[in-house]
Amino acid sequence: MGKGTPAFGKHNNKLVHVVCRRCGKRSYHQRKKRCASCGFGRTASRRVYAWNKRT
Ligand SMILES: [Zn+2]
Repeated sequence: MGKGTPAFGKHNNKLVHVVCRRCGKRSYHQRKKRCASCGFGRTASRRVYAWNKRT
């Protein structure tokens, strides 16, 4: 390790994303109170984008 911070291993000891109870993925942000995947806590409807679909 020449460049960067040597203490990189310490910065994810807190679990920020917990399992979302709407989509079931581990994307629910505890501090922001929303899910990064489905938008739970942010939108009433499910967070879905056209660019997210595969063909
Ligand atoms: Zn979710």
